[in-house]
Amino acid sequence: MSAPFSWIRPEPWGVHVVPADCWVDPGRPVDRALVTHGHADHARGGHGTTYATPETLAIMELRYDTRDGAVPVSYGETVRLPGGVDATYIPAGHVLGSAQILLEHAGERVVITGDYKRRADPTCAPFEVTPCDIFITEATFGLPIFTHPPIAEEMAKLLAALEGNPRGSVLVGAYALGKAQRVIAELRAAGHTDPIYLHGAMEKMCRLYEEHGVELGNLRLVSDHTKEDMRGAIVIAPPSALNDRWSRRLPDPITAMASGWMRVRQRARQRNVELPLVISDHADWNELTATIDEVDPAETWITHGREEALLRWCELGQRRARALALVGREDEDE
Ligand SMILES: [Zn+2]
Ligand SMILES: [Zn+2]
Repeated sequence: MSAPFSWIRPEPWGVHVVPADCWVDPGRPVDRALVTHGHADHARGGHGTTYATPETLAIMELRYDTRDGAVPVSYGETVRLPGGVDATYIPAGHVLGSAQILLEHAGERVVITGDYKRRADPTCAPFEVTPCDIFITEATFGLPIFTHPPIAEEMAKLLAALEGNPRGSVLVGAYALGKAQRVIAELRAAGHTDPIYLHGAMEKMCRLYEEHGVELGNLRLVSDHTKEDMRGAIVIAPPSALNDRWSRRLPDPITAMASGWMRVRQRARQRNVELPLVISDHADWNELTATIDEVDPAETWITHGREEALLRWCELGQRRARALALVGREDEDE
């Protein structure tokens, strides 16, 4: 018999599932990839076979033009991989289609979270706690200073800014996959039924969400409208457009940005953000630690962000843990 868990091997550019010769979220093209979700630091084109949820495959087709070798795996479904490895896809609550992947081999269970959050999100299925021996967790906001406020508070700030600027507009910087749609859906849930204006780069992803049953209400393209039309409106654009010439077509915009990093004042200043909205699609520090306690694995492997503090927290709680040095995990999404 081989040593426990020798079948799962973290390498710098992905987690290798050895008997199946599969890679989880590989950073370069491989024969067989298991992809947790559509963000660029996890999903890429060019694999021989890609196992992912139908939603993630649709996102990958839209963003990276990958169509060949797509194998859809629905939530709760188990696929048998070569070498006697079973893979089950479980909701991660991060963005549409995002999954944790449970790998089972020789009676051993490993869960890879990908990116995840624990807050309710009207645009995706909620995270499910899954018992396992090894829990491979992200740690994007793995520092005690990171606590995300309730999203209702941030929505109230956004709507108050709009009300205070009735002849102008509020321009919200939000990542095109996930954050933009969540902000729109939360505005709708808060009773905001007015048209919301989109930068052209947002349009296709919003339509994809709608095709997958996420209602976003009345959306209009900025390019189809005049300054006058947009007075008193919310406009959503990628963060890169906030300080761009593009924003000159908007009526007196207040610049906002929706990101977990808005907790850090310097980051808001760098982007000239007047209204920082702390809205994250990742678990905050309390949720990262609470989730490890709930899952209660024999070992925790930490990746993707600020590993050190979470590693220390595990050690102080007598939990076995190690930090993985995966490369190329950047916060495109955060
Ligand atoms: Zn992500
Ligand atoms: Zn990520």
